[in-house]
Amino acid sequence: MIIECDDKVYNPLGGGSYVFEKDIVNFLLKKFDKDNIVISIGAQPNSSPHFGTLIVFSTAFSLASKMKHKVQKKNISVLFEVVDTAPSETIEINGIKYQRNLRNTGQLNNNFDEYVEILNYFKQLTGINYNIRFQKEFNNQKYIYPIVSEIIKNKEKLSPILDPKYEKLRIRVACPECGLADKNSINTKFVEDNIISYCPEHGEYITNIKKESCKLEYNTPLRNLVRGIAYGMHNNDATQDYQIMRITGSDYAGFYQEELLYKPASIINYPINDLPSILYTPLVLDWSGAKVSKSLYVKEGAYSDLPSYLINYEYMKNNYGIDGLNIIHNITNEWIDKPYLLFRNYSIYYFKKEFEKYDKSNIYKHKAWVY
Ligand SMILES: [Zn+2]
Repeated sequence: MIIECDDKVYNPLGGGSYVFEKDIVNFLLKKFDKDNIVISIGAQPNSSPHFGTLIVFSTAFSLASKMKHKVQKKNISVLFEVVDTAPSETIEINGIKYQRNLRNTGQLNNNFDEYVEILNYFKQLTGINYNIRFQKEFNNQKYIYPIVSEIIKNKEKLSPILDPKYEKLRIRVACPECGLADKNSINTKFVEDNIISYCPEHGEYITNIKKESCKLEYNTPLRNLVRGIAYGMHNNDATQDYQIMRITGSDYAGFYQEELLYKPASIINYPINDLPSILYTPLVLDWSGAKVSKSLYVKEGAYSDLPSYLINYEYMKNNYGIDGLNIIHNITNEWIDKPYLLFRNYSIYYFKKEFEKYDKSNIYKHKAWVY
Protein backbone atom coordinates (compact mmCIF):
# COMPACT_ATOMS: atom_id res chain seq x y z
CA MET A 1 0.00 0.00 0.00
CA ILE A 2 1.25 3.47 -0.85
CA ILE A 3 0.19 6.18 1.57
CA GLU A 4 0.04 9.60 0.04
CA CYS A 5 0.70 12.67 2.13
CA ASP A 6 1.07 16.40 1.53
CA ASP A 7 4.50 16.41 3.20
CA LYS A 8 3.50 19.12 5.68
CA VAL A 9 3.54 18.92 9.47
CA TYR A 10 0.51 20.31 11.29
CA ASN A 11 0.36 20.94 15.03
CA PRO A 12 -3.26 21.59 15.95
CA LEU A 13 -3.72 22.53 19.60
CA GLY A 14 -5.74 20.46 22.01
CA GLY A 15 -5.55 19.18 25.59
CA GLY A 16 -2.02 19.59 26.97
CA SER A 17 -0.69 21.42 23.92
CA TYR A 18 -3.45 24.02 24.35
CA VAL A 19 -2.74 24.65 28.04
CA PHE A 20 1.08 24.43 27.79
CA GLU A 21 1.36 25.82 24.28
CA LYS A 22 4.26 28.20 24.92
CA ASP A 23 5.79 27.13 28.20
CA ILE A 24 6.48 23.98 30.14
CA VAL A 25 9.83 24.83 31.76
CA ASN A 26 8.57 27.61 34.06
CA PHE A 27 5.50 25.58 34.94
CA LEU A 28 7.71 22.69 36.10
CA LEU A 29 10.29 24.89 37.82
CA LYS A 30 7.58 26.25 40.14
CA LYS A 31 7.23 22.78 41.63
CA PHE A 32 10.74 22.77 43.06
CA ASP A 33 11.87 24.76 46.08
CA LYS A 34 15.19 23.01 46.75
CA ASP A 35 18.42 24.04 45.03
CA ASN A 36 18.94 20.71 43.31
CA ILE A 37 16.60 19.21 40.74
CA VAL A 38 16.91 15.69 39.41
CA ILE A 39 15.21 14.45 36.26
CA SER A 40 14.72 10.70 36.38
CA ILE A 41 14.64 8.37 33.39
CA GLY A 42 14.59 4.59 33.31
CA ALA A 43 15.24 1.61 31.06
CA GLN A 44 15.57 -2.15 31.18
CA PRO A 45 18.96 -2.56 29.50
CA ASN A 46 18.30 -5.93 27.85
CA SER A 47 19.56 -4.90 24.40
CA SER A 48 20.81 -1.91 22.44
CA PRO A 49 18.68 1.13 23.46
CA HIS A 50 15.71 1.43 21.13
CA PHE A 51 14.79 4.61 19.35
CA GLY A 52 12.10 5.55 21.91
CA THR A 53 14.67 5.24 24.72
CA LEU A 54 16.99 7.63 22.88
CA ILE A 55 14.12 10.11 22.71
CA VAL A 56 13.38 9.83 26.44
CA PHE A 57 17.07 10.24 27.34
CA SER A 58 17.50 13.18 24.97
CA THR A 59 14.34 14.92 26.25
CA ALA A 60 15.61 14.66 29.84
CA PHE A 61 18.84 16.46 28.91
CA SER A 62 16.91 19.02 26.84
CA LEU A 63 14.61 19.81 29.75
CA ALA A 64 17.50 19.91 32.24
CA SER A 65 19.53 22.33 30.11
CA LYS A 66 16.53 24.60 29.43
CA MET A 67 15.79 24.66 33.17
CA LYS A 68 19.42 25.50 33.91
CA HIS A 69 19.23 28.44 31.51
CA LYS A 70 16.23 29.84 33.40
CA VAL A 71 17.65 29.37 36.90
CA GLN A 72 21.44 29.38 36.83
CA LYS A 73 21.73 29.04 40.61
CA LYS A 74 20.01 25.65 40.62
CA ASN A 75 21.93 22.47 40.05
CA ILE A 76 20.08 20.24 37.61
CA SER A 77 21.03 16.68 36.76
CA VAL A 78 19.68 13.52 35.19
CA LEU A 79 19.27 10.21 37.04
CA PHE A 80 19.21 6.97 35.07
CA GLU A 81 17.30 4.37 37.08
CA VAL A 82 18.46 1.01 35.75
CA VAL A 83 15.83 -1.72 35.93
CA ASP A 84 18.38 -4.50 36.32
CA THR A 85 15.66 -6.63 37.96
CA ALA A 86 13.79 -6.95 34.65
CA PRO A 87 13.43 -10.51 33.34
CA SER A 88 16.31 -11.87 31.32
CA GLU A 89 15.14 -15.46 30.96
CA THR A 90 11.92 -17.21 31.90
CA ILE A 91 11.56 -20.92 32.55
CA GLU A 92 8.50 -22.95 33.48
CA ILE A 93 8.70 -25.59 36.22
CA ASN A 94 5.56 -27.53 37.21
CA GLY A 95 3.37 -25.03 35.41
CA ILE A 96 4.82 -22.01 37.24
CA LYS A 97 6.90 -19.34 35.53
CA TYR A 98 10.24 -18.46 37.06
CA GLN A 99 12.54 -15.73 35.87
CA ARG A 100 16.15 -14.76 36.24
CA ASN A 101 16.85 -11.05 36.09
CA LEU A 102 19.27 -9.13 33.88
CA ARG A 103 21.85 -8.83 36.64
CA ASN A 104 21.70 -12.52 37.51
CA THR A 105 22.27 -13.78 34.00
CA GLY A 106 24.88 -11.13 33.19
CA GLN A 107 22.76 -9.87 30.28
CA LEU A 108 22.90 -6.45 31.91
CA ASN A 109 26.52 -6.10 30.79
CA ASN A 110 25.87 -6.87 27.11
CA ASN A 111 24.79 -3.37 26.10
CA PHE A 112 25.29 -1.29 29.22
CA ASP A 113 28.29 0.50 27.68
CA GLU A 114 25.98 1.91 25.02
CA TYR A 115 23.73 3.48 27.67
CA VAL A 116 26.76 5.07 29.33
CA GLU A 117 28.05 6.27 25.96
CA ILE A 118 24.71 7.97 25.22
CA LEU A 119 24.57 9.59 28.67
CA ASN A 120 28.15 10.83 28.27
CA TYR A 121 27.37 12.23 24.85
CA PHE A 122 24.36 14.21 26.10
CA LYS A 123 26.37 15.35 29.12
CA GLN A 124 29.08 16.71 26.88
CA LEU A 125 26.50 18.35 24.61
CA THR A 126 24.56 20.08 27.39
CA GLY A 127 26.92 20.38 30.36
CA ILE A 128 24.31 18.54 32.44
CA ASN A 129 25.62 15.87 34.79
CA TYR A 130 24.05 12.48 35.28
CA ASN A 131 24.02 9.68 37.84
CA ILE A 132 23.16 6.00 37.54
CA ARG A 133 21.17 4.09 40.17
CA PHE A 134 20.49 0.35 40.21
CA GLN A 135 17.42 -1.24 41.77
CA LYS A 136 19.37 -2.35 44.83
CA GLU A 137 20.24 1.26 45.65
CA PHE A 138 16.72 2.43 44.86
CA ASN A 139 15.29 -0.22 47.19
CA ASN A 140 17.76 0.64 49.94
CA GLN A 141 16.06 3.98 50.49
CA LYS A 142 14.37 4.42 53.86
CA TYR A 143 11.03 5.11 52.14
CA ILE A 144 10.74 1.64 50.63
CA TYR A 145 9.88 -0.25 53.81
CA PRO A 146 6.89 1.93 54.81
CA ILE A 147 5.60 1.98 51.22
CA VAL A 148 5.89 -1.77 50.64
CA SER A 149 4.53 -2.51 54.10
CA GLU A 150 1.44 -0.39 53.34
CA ILE A 151 1.04 -2.06 49.94
CA ILE A 152 1.19 -5.53 51.58
CA LYS A 153 -1.39 -4.49 54.20
CA ASN A 154 -3.72 -3.47 51.36
CA LYS A 155 -2.88 -6.31 49.01
CA GLU A 156 -6.48 -7.55 48.77
CA LYS A 157 -7.50 -4.19 47.29
CA LEU A 158 -4.37 -3.51 45.25
CA SER A 159 -3.58 -6.90 43.68
CA PRO A 160 -6.64 -7.04 41.36
CA ILE A 161 -5.82 -3.48 40.20
CA LEU A 162 -2.05 -3.84 39.69
CA ASP A 163 -2.28 -7.38 38.29
CA PRO A 164 -5.72 -7.89 36.71
CA LYS A 165 -4.52 -11.13 35.09
CA TYR A 166 -3.40 -13.13 38.14
CA GLU A 167 -4.62 -10.80 40.93
CA LYS A 168 -1.32 -11.35 42.73
CA LEU A 169 0.94 -8.87 44.47
CA ARG A 170 3.88 -9.09 42.12
CA ILE A 171 6.69 -8.48 44.61
CA ARG A 172 9.42 -11.07 44.19
CA VAL A 173 12.81 -11.94 45.62
CA ALA A 174 15.37 -14.00 43.68
CA CYS A 175 16.49 -17.27 45.27
CA PRO A 176 19.79 -16.56 47.07
CA GLU A 177 21.18 -19.85 45.74
CA CYS A 178 20.24 -19.88 42.06
CA GLY A 179 18.61 -16.52 41.26
CA LEU A 180 15.23 -17.92 40.22
CA ALA A 181 12.20 -15.82 41.17
CA ASP A 182 8.51 -16.72 41.05
CA LYS A 183 7.57 -14.32 38.21
CA ASN A 184 3.88 -14.03 39.04
CA SER A 185 4.20 -14.51 42.83
CA ILE A 186 2.08 -17.67 42.59
CA ASN A 187 3.68 -19.37 45.63
CA THR A 188 4.83 -16.20 47.38
CA LYS A 189 3.32 -15.50 50.82
CA PHE A 190 3.26 -12.22 52.69
CA VAL A 191 3.28 -12.57 56.47
CA GLU A 192 3.56 -9.22 58.25
CA ASP A 193 7.04 -7.86 57.40
CA ASN A 194 8.21 -11.10 55.82
CA ILE A 195 8.02 -12.37 52.28
CA ILE A 196 8.12 -16.16 52.06
CA SER A 197 9.31 -17.18 48.60
CA TYR A 198 9.66 -20.63 47.14
CA CYS A 199 12.36 -21.96 44.81
CA PRO A 200 11.56 -25.27 43.07
CA GLU A 201 15.12 -26.43 43.73
CA HIS A 202 16.10 -24.84 47.04
CA GLY A 203 12.77 -24.59 48.84
CA GLU A 204 11.49 -21.73 50.99
CA TYR A 205 13.44 -18.61 51.83
CA ILE A 206 12.32 -15.66 53.90
CA THR A 207 13.01 -11.99 53.23
CA ASN A 208 12.38 -9.29 55.83
CA ILE A 209 11.19 -6.17 54.01
CA LYS A 210 12.44 -3.86 56.76
CA LYS A 211 15.99 -5.22 56.88
CA GLU A 212 16.35 -6.48 53.31
CA SER A 213 14.31 -4.12 51.14
CA CYS A 214 17.29 -3.97 48.74
CA LYS A 215 16.38 -7.48 47.53
CA LEU A 216 12.89 -6.60 46.34
CA GLU A 217 11.81 -6.81 42.71
CA TYR A 218 8.47 -5.67 41.31
CA ASN A 219 6.51 -5.99 38.11
CA THR A 220 6.21 -2.75 36.14
CA PRO A 221 2.93 -1.33 37.55
CA LEU A 222 4.01 -2.05 41.13
CA ARG A 223 7.47 -0.58 40.56
CA ASN A 224 5.79 2.50 39.09
CA LEU A 225 3.66 2.85 42.25
CA VAL A 226 6.57 2.30 44.67
CA ARG A 227 8.77 4.70 42.70
CA GLY A 228 6.09 7.39 42.48
CA ILE A 229 5.47 7.39 46.24
CA ALA A 230 9.21 7.08 47.06
CA TYR A 231 9.94 10.14 44.89
CA GLY A 232 7.09 12.01 46.58
CA MET A 233 8.38 11.17 50.06
CA HIS A 234 11.91 12.12 49.02
CA ASN A 235 10.70 15.48 47.68
CA ASN A 236 9.00 16.33 50.99
CA ASP A 237 11.90 15.09 53.12
CA ALA A 238 13.69 18.13 54.60
CA THR A 239 16.86 16.07 55.08
CA GLN A 240 17.25 15.54 51.33
CA ASP A 241 18.95 18.20 49.23
CA TYR A 242 17.23 17.51 45.92
CA GLN A 243 13.76 17.08 44.46
CA ILE A 244 12.98 14.73 41.64
CA MET A 245 10.63 14.42 38.67
CA ARG A 246 10.25 11.79 35.98
CA ILE A 247 10.33 11.68 32.20
CA THR A 248 8.91 8.62 30.47
CA GLY A 249 7.20 7.54 27.25
CA SER A 250 3.58 8.46 26.52
CA ASP A 251 2.52 4.81 26.53
CA TYR A 252 2.37 5.23 30.32
CA ALA A 253 0.28 8.41 30.19
CA GLY A 254 -3.44 8.70 30.80
CA PHE A 255 -5.48 5.63 31.79
CA TYR A 256 -2.37 3.70 32.87
CA GLN A 257 -1.25 6.26 35.46
CA GLU A 258 -4.74 7.17 36.58
CA GLU A 259 -5.71 3.57 37.29
CA LEU A 260 -2.32 2.11 38.27
CA LEU A 261 -0.64 5.00 40.08
CA TYR A 262 -2.97 7.75 41.29
CA LYS A 263 -5.92 5.64 42.45
CA PRO A 264 -3.76 2.95 44.12
CA ALA A 265 -1.74 5.70 45.89
CA SER A 266 -5.02 7.10 47.13
CA ILE A 267 -6.14 3.64 48.33
CA ILE A 268 -3.12 3.51 50.64
CA ASN A 269 -3.81 7.13 51.72
CA TYR A 270 -0.80 8.72 50.07
CA PRO A 271 -1.59 12.38 49.16
CA ILE A 272 -1.85 12.47 45.37
CA ASN A 273 -0.61 16.03 45.11
CA ASP A 274 2.69 14.95 46.68
CA LEU A 275 3.42 12.51 43.86
CA PRO A 276 6.20 13.74 41.54
CA SER A 277 5.58 15.42 38.21
CA ILE A 278 5.82 13.12 35.22
CA LEU A 279 6.48 14.53 31.77
CA TYR A 280 5.68 12.23 28.85
CA THR A 281 7.65 12.08 25.64
CA PRO A 282 5.88 11.64 22.29
CA LEU A 283 5.65 8.09 20.96
CA VAL A 284 7.25 6.97 17.70
CA LEU A 285 4.47 5.38 15.67
CA ASP A 286 4.34 3.18 12.59
CA TRP A 287 2.03 3.92 9.65
CA SER A 288 -1.00 2.45 11.46
CA GLY A 289 -0.42 4.53 14.60
CA ALA A 290 1.06 1.70 16.72
CA LYS A 291 4.22 2.19 18.74
CA VAL A 292 7.23 0.96 16.77
CA SER A 293 8.45 -2.21 18.43
CA LYS A 294 12.08 -3.16 18.29
CA SER A 295 11.38 -6.76 19.24
CA LEU A 296 8.95 -7.14 16.32
CA TYR A 297 11.67 -5.81 14.04
CA VAL A 298 14.27 -8.22 15.39
CA LYS A 299 12.13 -11.33 15.90
CA GLU A 300 9.60 -11.11 13.13
CA GLY A 301 11.24 -8.95 10.49
CA ALA A 302 8.58 -6.24 10.84
CA TYR A 303 8.90 -2.76 9.27
CA SER A 304 10.83 -4.05 6.26
CA ASP A 305 10.19 -0.67 4.61
CA LEU A 306 12.02 1.29 7.30
CA PRO A 307 15.73 2.04 7.55
CA SER A 308 17.30 0.21 10.49
CA TYR A 309 18.76 3.40 12.01
CA LEU A 310 15.28 4.24 13.30
CA ILE A 311 15.12 1.00 15.30
CA ASN A 312 17.90 1.14 17.85
CA TYR A 313 21.12 2.86 18.89
CA GLU A 314 23.43 0.21 17.47
CA TYR A 315 21.97 0.56 13.95
CA MET A 316 21.78 4.34 14.21
CA LYS A 317 25.42 4.54 15.21
CA ASN A 318 26.40 2.26 12.32
CA ASN A 319 24.71 4.67 9.90
CA TYR A 320 25.33 8.08 11.45
CA GLY A 321 28.00 7.58 14.07
CA ILE A 322 27.40 8.89 17.56
CA ASP A 323 26.59 12.29 16.01
CA GLY A 324 23.22 10.85 15.03
CA LEU A 325 22.23 11.67 18.62
CA ASN A 326 22.53 15.34 17.60
CA ILE A 327 19.63 14.94 15.21
CA ILE A 328 17.45 13.53 17.97
CA HIS A 329 18.61 16.15 20.46
CA ASN A 330 17.80 18.94 18.04
CA ILE A 331 14.23 17.62 17.85
CA THR A 332 13.76 17.21 21.63
CA ASN A 333 15.19 20.69 22.26
CA GLU A 334 12.51 22.10 20.02
CA TRP A 335 9.80 20.15 21.88
CA ILE A 336 10.84 21.77 25.17
CA ASP A 337 11.11 25.24 23.60
CA LYS A 338 7.73 24.90 21.91
CA PRO A 339 5.71 22.52 24.10
CA TYR A 340 2.83 22.42 21.64
CA LEU A 341 5.18 20.02 19.82
CA LEU A 342 5.52 17.88 22.94
CA PHE A 343 1.92 16.96 23.65
CA ARG A 344 1.47 14.79 20.59
CA ASN A 345 3.01 11.70 18.98
CA TYR A 346 5.06 11.40 15.77
CA SER A 347 5.10 8.85 13.01
CA ILE A 348 8.46 7.27 12.32
CA TYR A 349 8.38 8.91 8.89
CA TYR A 350 8.66 12.27 10.64
CA PHE A 351 11.99 11.17 12.13
CA LYS A 352 13.05 9.65 8.83
CA LYS A 353 12.57 13.03 7.22
CA GLU A 354 14.62 14.77 9.92
CA PHE A 355 17.47 12.29 9.38
CA GLU A 356 17.24 12.85 5.62
CA LYS A 357 17.48 16.61 6.16
CA TYR A 358 20.71 15.92 8.04
CA ASP A 359 21.95 13.82 5.14
CA LYS A 360 21.35 16.71 2.79
CA SER A 361 22.79 19.52 4.86
CA ASN A 362 25.24 17.72 7.11
CA ILE A 363 25.45 20.98 9.01
CA TYR A 364 25.88 19.49 12.46
CA LYS A 365 29.23 17.96 11.60
CA HIS A 366 30.70 21.39 11.01
CA LYS A 367 28.81 23.53 13.42
CA ALA A 368 29.34 23.65 17.18
CA TRP A 369 26.14 23.03 19.09
CA VAL A 370 24.55 26.34 19.96
CA TYR A 371 22.21 26.85 22.93
ZN1 LIG B 1 17.02 -21.69 44.03
